[in-house]
Amino acid sequence: MQKKQKNQTANLQSMQNLNINLVLDVIRNNSPISQAEISRTTRLSPGTITNLIKILKKNNFVRETGFGQSSGGRRPILLSLNPEARHVMAATFFADEITVALLNLLGDIKKEVKVAAEVEKGETRVFENFARAADSLVHALHLDKKNILGLGASFEGIFDPGKGTLILSNRFGWRNVPVRDLLIKSYGLKTFVEGDGRAMALGEYHYGAGKAVTNMVCIDMDSGIGSAAVLNGSVYHGAFSMEGEIGHIQATPNGPKCRCGKRGCLETVASGSALIARVRKALENGERFKGLLMKEGLPEHLLARAIFHAAKEDERILEMVEEIGCHLGLAVANVINYSDPELVVLTGYMIHESGELLSNMIEEVVRKQLVAGESRNVRIEKGVLGDNAALIGAATLVYQDFFPYLS
Ligand SMILES: [Zn+2]
Repeated sequence: MQKKQKNQTANLQSMQNLNINLVLDVIRNNSPISQAEISRTTRLSPGTITNLIKILKKNNFVRETGFGQSSGGRRPILLSLNPEARHVMAATFFADEITVALLNLLGDIKKEVKVAAEVEKGETRVFENFARAADSLVHALHLDKKNILGLGASFEGIFDPGKGTLILSNRFGWRNVPVRDLLIKSYGLKTFVEGDGRAMALGEYHYGAGKAVTNMVCIDMDSGIGSAAVLNGSVYHGAFSMEGEIGHIQATPNGPKCRCGKRGCLETVASGSALIARVRKALENGERFKGLLMKEGLPEHLLARAIFHAAKEDERILEMVEEIGCHLGLAVANVINYSDPELVVLTGYMIHESGELLSNMIEEVVRKQLVAGESRNVRIEKGVLGDNAALIGAATLVYQDFFPYLS
């Protein structure tokens, strides 16, 4: 008998939690909003809403922010989400650098720090570096760790988000590393993990270029090339967590050897690394290009910027960029012909450092290659979150847990 009562209490509790989340989600998406409107939207009774709002106010999640229009009687009090009521920690792990940030409940980055990953010093060091950066951030913002809802983290490499394992990352030199468990061990927050391309796609879908669409594909054109599809708010993973390896479709038979072991992959002819290597080789062979200033030791995105800049003056550099634009355009067209998305978001330093040059070339090739293109209203747009896409996407993993109705 006692057990039954206990179960009933637990059920009531979980029902109340579910309703609180629903109400909070409605307020988050519609602030400022009156209690009557919340009741209409959630189909919960006015009495239930009054009780739930009381709990949310007590916990500082919701505050009164004015009055709405009167519909005859008293003007209704309007309620808004307090975006600073809780925070979310996000981290992106790249082989050279870890970025850790704290965001409020609306996806705004409040503060971020960057630290060296020091992969060469071993796994333990990487997670120690993360924990130190996380601690310094929490202290800098004077936050109480218990008010941080969780950690969302992204890693570059092939990733199994179900197991929380980095299956393979050539850049880290890691195989089957249980990164989620290691993050929980190193910092103790509820933790969600994802591959970096998929995190970028989630960020752009919820907070960037994809805000108004249902289905989209995000293609990252960087040192490597990867893609991720978001369908109805969720990232598609594939049966073996390897969806989106567009960088390893074959672009030229018997082409250059790729880091994956195959030959002629798209990455070997159209990635940022491939473009830089090609220009370097030409320089080593004694060729000279107008307007090209490539200082050694610069990071890849700045070298790419220098090359794109020179493409305005030098015909041969422009030809190299056109060749890459053609490869990338064909790849994007293949993606659209296959998966029929509403929107393709192009991101990564190749896109952002080239101004409109590369995206225009890609769009031109795509328009020629689409099957029944006139019947598709597919848009191709540049990402709007830039370097923050993966970070905001990683935070989205926590928001999705806390706001289960996140749209
Ligand atoms: Zn490959």
